[in-house]
Amino acid sequence: RAKKDGRNSFSFYDPEMNLRVQETLELETDLRQALDREEFLLHYQPKVDLASGAVIGCEALVRWRHPRRGLVPPNDFIPLAEETGLIVPLGAWVLREACRQARRWKEAELPPVSVAVNLSARQFRQGDLPELVADVLAETGLDPHLLDLELTESMVMDNPVKAGRAMLDLKKLGVSLSLDDFGTGYSSLNYLRRFPVDCLKIDRSFIRDVVDDPSGASVVTSVISIAHNLGMAAVAEGVENEDQLRFLASCGCDTYQGYFFSKPIPAEEFVALLQRETLPAGE
Ligand code: C2E
Ligand code: MG
Ligand code: MG
Ligand code: MG
Repeated sequence: RAKKDGRNSFSFYDPEMNLRVQETLELETDLRQALDREEFLLHYQPKVDLASGAVIGCEALVRWRHPRRGLVPPNDFIPLAEETGLIVPLGAWVLREACRQARRWKEAELPPVSVAVNLSARQFRQGDLPELVADVLAETGLDPHLLDLELTESMVMDNPVKAGRAMLDLKKLGVSLSLDDFGTGYSSLNYLRRFPVDCLKIDRSFIRDVVDDPSGASVVTSVISIAHNLGMAAVAEGVENEDQLRFLASCGCDTYQGYFFSKPIPAEEFVALLQRETLPAGE
């Protein structure tokens, strides 16, 4: 076909596309080496109890300190890691690092905080995930109740029967399970009620609209009542201002995360924050 177009054939060559392909290849090469080179790190975003205002946990969020690109956010490399299978060793590293960290906090006699780890679809599908989690818990000595694993709707609704079984295997270890980005996928309520899930995390996109948009607000109140009716806690993500927080408090949301309280921060900063919290009032 290129030949037939004669002298215009060069128009098939798209330099921009070529650049993108090359960039992806380069990123993939870098990604393969990044674990060995210890270029990954975790930031921790506090989870706050709405009623008491206390920090009760955090979510571990991975970042990549790339030698030339600087700090790369997960959305720029997790999909590639997922595609290439690199997510499996990376996910294991994140789990181990987060548990190690949480164990250290406990030793430092800080108030008990749980740590949440995001699982990827591929990681969840791997048959040996419960073994990995059990190994990491044994190795780090972290109390299983302090580990929370975040799954997304699409991961579990893909094959709900199999996912339900995998979730039970994880629950047997004593860990908590959360459904992340809830409301953005296609959850069947029929399965949802049978899943051993502890928390529903209401997606940020719904929280954003809560104050100005009555339909956004009613989605949030509905999700909170679904969670409570199923015996689950409701967690709001992406809370950016006081109006949103006040609304969530008024409808009985249990926990929140968001820039309003704190962005994801390095471990040392999170420790400092916990220490500030435990100071007696007035100090
Ligand atoms: P997520 O699990 O839903 O995490 C919440 C994301 O929202 C984080 O982005 C967080 O920084 C951001 N966020 C929190 N509060 C606010 C807020 O008030 N306003 C706004 N605009 N954003 C807020 P981040 O760290 O870039 O992570 C993006 C996604 O990457 C995560 O979404 C998660 O799906 C994925 N991810 C992060 N770490 C890991 C990991 O270790 N493994 C896997 N499989 N996925 C991960
Ligand atoms: Mg998450
Ligand atoms: Mg989320
Ligand atoms: Mg989200």
